[in-house]
Amino acid sequence: MKEFQQRVKQIECGIVLDHLDPYTNYKAQKILGIEQLPALVIRNYPSRTMNKKDVIKVEVETEEKLDKLLKTIRKNESKIALLSKNCTLTVIREGKVAEKHKAMDKLKEALQENDTIERVFKCTNYNCVSNQEKDGEAKFKVTIKNGEYKASCKYCDQAMTEQEIKDNII
Ligand SMILES: [Zn+2]
Repeated sequence: MKEFQQRVKQIECGIVLDHLDPYTNYKAQKILGIEQLPALVIRNYPSRTMNKKDVIKVEVETEEKLDKLLKTIRKNESKIALLSKNCTLTVIREGKVAEKHKAMDKLKEALQENDTIERVFKCTNYNCVSNQEKDGEAKFKVTIKNGEYKASCKYCDQAMTEQEIKDNII
């Protein structure tokens, strides 16, 4: 399997999002704001640790462009964990791993500073003001307990489970 991925493309400079849940690659790119960039997507691929997974590789030409790309994705990378719990982000410079971490660790860090997450997913209460008003923006208090996500809507107090969060990602 490793050989297959290497055959597909070795990246010299860029990022790799690995262990995404199958078929979540496009939403992941949207959350990060990189859906317009050329990317190599491996979809629904057998994985030793999670049965099937998606992988996204984004390669850029220069370190400068990589830093710009990282600046873009840093704002939202922790939110990827809501979509794909096992997702890892690897930064590659000069063909070598410069940094690797789990999105979920980033989410935990982010929630410690501010437990409110805006947008990304919708409130499951159809009548919620965040779903009714044109500029209504969804806002949630998100907590992680025993590795499980929970959210409650800041407007209507609707409680959402991990699966509901995932299913309602925009
Ligand atoms: Zn609500």
